[in-house]
Amino acid sequence: MDYSFTQISNYLRCPRSYRYRYLDGWREKETRAAMIFGRCFENAIESVFKGGDCGATLFQEWSAFRDAPLEYKKGETWDRMLHQGMRLLERFAQDNRIQVPDPQRNLQIKVLRDLPNANQFVGFIDAIGELDGVHCLMDWKTTSSRYAEAPQGLLGLDPQLICYSWLTRISEVGLVVFVRKQQPEIQYLRTSISEEQRQEFGRLVAMTIDQIEAAQFPSHSGIRFPQNGCVSCSHLGLCLRNQELIDTSLVRLPGANDLAWLDELVD
Ligand code: SF4
Repeated sequence: MDYSFTQISNYLRCPRSYRYRYLDGWREKETRAAMIFGRCFENAIESVFKGGDCGATLFQEWSAFRDAPLEYKKGETWDRMLHQGMRLLERFAQDNRIQVPDPQRNLQIKVLRDLPNANQFVGFIDAIGELDGVHCLMDWKTTSSRYAEAPQGLLGLDPQLICYSWLTRISEVGLVVFVRKQQPEIQYLRTSISEEQRQEFGRLVAMTIDQIEAAQFPSHSGIRFPQNGCVSCSHLGLCLRNQELIDTSLVRLPGANDLAWLDELVD
């Protein structure tokens, strides 16, 4: 079986949600504008390194959703997101802080790691190259708010970066955050992941897979007033047995786990 970061983090957040998604096939309908825009934008970033016209790529990809019934957050529109994306691409080109040699090989790299019992772990790394002259693996994020930079060292706790470092055995990691806001901003963040962190992550993966294979799927809502993680969980309708909510946010796919690795291209 193939496991991915998204699967492991989904299980750790709530094992019941994992079962709904990966065993029963209940997937969230893809209607969030920000998520779809993020995918279009990442394709535009790729074209920066491949020598294409990144602005044209963004326009072309995003235009496919111009009339789609997407969910926009307050203040977001199709036009505004396009405008923000174009300004971020201009800024990215001006900054010129990232180099990706041989972009055909070093962008969207599929990395596999063998696990016990014929399982494997699969991940897609956005890029391997240089950030401010330092060789590292990189992840792009498109978001509407800045990544927290304080207290110092916070980035080194990012579980996805630790996972990618474990998967590739590369210590230096970078996060490039494209912030869509009034004045678009790009954060270039870099940190080192230690061998101890990589080993600890490996143990966490092994422990999680043991629990999945033992069919342990208790609900773990994490409710602690006033936070309620269930409110933002796409499987809330299933837990509440609320058919209207299920119909609004979910779609059931056959062969759930066979396609699970594709999540890595989306999340
Ligand atoms: S609604 Fe809450 S308990 Fe149910 S799957 Fe989602 S996070 Fe878990």
